[in-house]
Amino acid sequence: ADYVPAPGRNHLFVPGPVNIPESVMRAMNRNNEDHRSPAFPKLSKSVIDDVKRIFKSSKGTSFIFPTTGTGAWESALTNTLSPGDKIISFRLGQFSLLWIDQMQRLRFDVDVVDCEWGSGVDLDLLKAKLAADRSHNVKAVCVVHNETSTGVTNDIGGVRRVLDEVRHPALLLVDGVSSIGAIDFRMDDWKVDVALTGSQKALSLPTGLGIVCASPKALEAAKTSKSLRVFFDWADYIKFYAAGTYWPYTPSIQLLYGLRAALDLIFDEGLDNVIARHHRLGGATREAVKAWGLTIATKKDEWISDTVTAVVVPPHIDSANVVKLAWKKYNLSLGVGLNKVAGKVFRIGHLGSMNELQLLGALAGVEIVLVELGVNIKLGSGIAAAQAHLSKNTPLISSRI
Ligand code: PLP
Repeated sequence: ADYVPAPGRNHLFVPGPVNIPESVMRAMNRNNEDHRSPAFPKLSKSVIDDVKRIFKSSKGTSFIFPTTGTGAWESALTNTLSPGDKIISFRLGQFSLLWIDQMQRLRFDVDVVDCEWGSGVDLDLLKAKLAADRSHNVKAVCVVHNETSTGVTNDIGGVRRVLDEVRHPALLLVDGVSSIGAIDFRMDDWKVDVALTGSQKALSLPTGLGIVCASPKALEAAKTSKSLRVFFDWADYIKFYAAGTYWPYTPSIQLLYGLRAALDLIFDEGLDNVIARHHRLGGATREAVKAWGLTIATKKDEWISDTVTAVVVPPHIDSANVVKLAWKKYNLSLGVGLNKVAGKVFRIGHLGSMNELQLLGALAGVEIVLVELGVNIKLGSGIAAAQAHLSKNTPLISSRI
C-alpha cells in the first residue's frame, strides 16, 4: 500500500526515481543467496559486461557499486585524480553545483565556470580556457551531460571536439545520471574517460547501484592518482574480476537480478528505440508546454532534454503549489524547482519505464492543475498538441509488429 494511500496508481513523473517495470520487480523479489557460490559469477559477469552497452562502450571497464549517483561521482574523481589537481567544470544547475561542491570538498582545484541556469556548456569558452592552458595543468574536464534541475542536455561530442582541437590531454569525466540509457550517449566515440549513472533513473530500478564505466586512459590514470579511496577503489574490483569472483564486498544481490531484467528490457526494445521513445515523449511534453503558452527553463533548443522538462510558471504563481496540488488532488508526482529556480519551475520527468498514454495522463493532470491555480489556459489545449505529436511519431510497439 502507498505510505499515504490514494486510489488508483500514483503517476510518478519526477525525473528519478522512476517507475519500475513489473518484470524487474518480479526479478528482484527473491531470497538472499551466497554471492560467493559457484553459481553467482555467471550473473555478475553478465551484468558487468552488458551494462557497458548502455554507455555504448566496448573498450571501457565497468564497475557496479552499491551506492547512488553521488557515490559514482566520488568514484570517478578519486580514482583518476590527485588532491590539488585542476578541474574545469560548469555550474549551470543543482547537480553540477553539487558535483563541484564534492570536487572542492575532495580538495581538487576547480575552475568553476558559472553559467545562467537553463544554459548549457559554452564550448567557445571551454576552448579558450583549454587553449590558454599550454602547460596542461588542467587534469580533467567534468561535465553533467543532462542537468536534471533545468532540463539541459550538454553536447558531450562537442566537448570532445574542443579537447581534440586544442590537443589537450585532460580527462573527460561525465555525469550521465539522468541521460545514460535514455539519451544518446557514446562513451567510445566521444572518448569519454569516465561516465557514470545511477540505477533509479533510465534503468528504472530502485536506487542503490552507482554504475561507472572507465576508459583505458582512466584506468591508467588510476594507477598513479593519489586521492584517498577505499570503498570506491577500482583496483579492488579489478583484482576480484581477475579472480572471477567479481565483488570485493557484498553486492546488492536483488538489485543485480533487477539490473539483468532491466537490461533485457532495454535490449529487447533496442537501445536506439529507447532513445527515440524518450525523444518522442520529450517532444510531446514540449508541444504541450508551448500550447499552454508557457516556456521551459532551457534557454536554447540545442540544449533541450528528452528526459526532463522544467516548465517556467507565470510570475504570479509559485511552482511549488503546482507540485503540491498535483500530488494532493490527482496523485501525480512532479519535480519541484531546486535552489535558484525554486518557486519558478516545476519539472516533468519523462524517463525510464514510460509510454505515450502514461505521459498524456500526467500532462492532463498538469493542465488541470495549472487551470485550477489560475493560469490562463484552455483545458485540452496541451493534451491535443501532445496527442498530435505522439500520433505522428509513435511507431508500432516493436514486439507486437
Ligand atoms: N547527477 C544528476 C544529473 C542527478 O540528476 C542526480 C540525482 O538526481 C545526481 C547526480 C545524484 O544522484 P543520487 O541522488 O543518486 O546520488
